[in-house]
Amino acid sequence: MNYVTTNAVSGNELKNEPATSGRTCHCGSWIAHWKTYTGKSALPTCVVEGCNAKAEVGAHVEFTRQDDEKGLSYIAPMCGDHNKDHDLVFQSKPGYRLARGNVRETCGG
Ligand SMILES: [Zn+2]
Ligand SMILES: [Zn+2]
Repeated sequence: MNYVTTNAVSGNELKNEPATSGRTCHCGSWIAHWKTYTGKSALPTCVVEGCNAKAEVGAHVEFTRQDDEKGLSYIAPMCGDHNKDHDLVFQSKPGYRLARGNVRETCGG
């Protein structure tokens, strides 16, 4: 599986990873990476609960809770404003797919 799905009822607490602008991958952009590895073709609204802006970028996020997938990097669909808010901790919308951000396990970097 190249993606995980946020909790279908309440979402999950996620954190924007700081200083990821130097990371690149073979997909051309992180939102293209997200589409490829979640199997989605249309962009949803931003993953942040309560935000109705359309997702524009693929943001690097981590789960904050130990019993989730803590420590692993995932790519979430996010609006430009939230993506700029580094270290942001937020509640995700429920039932959102997050692509694995580890390029060695996906597109090869
Ligand atoms: Zn990629
Ligand atoms: Zn947003």
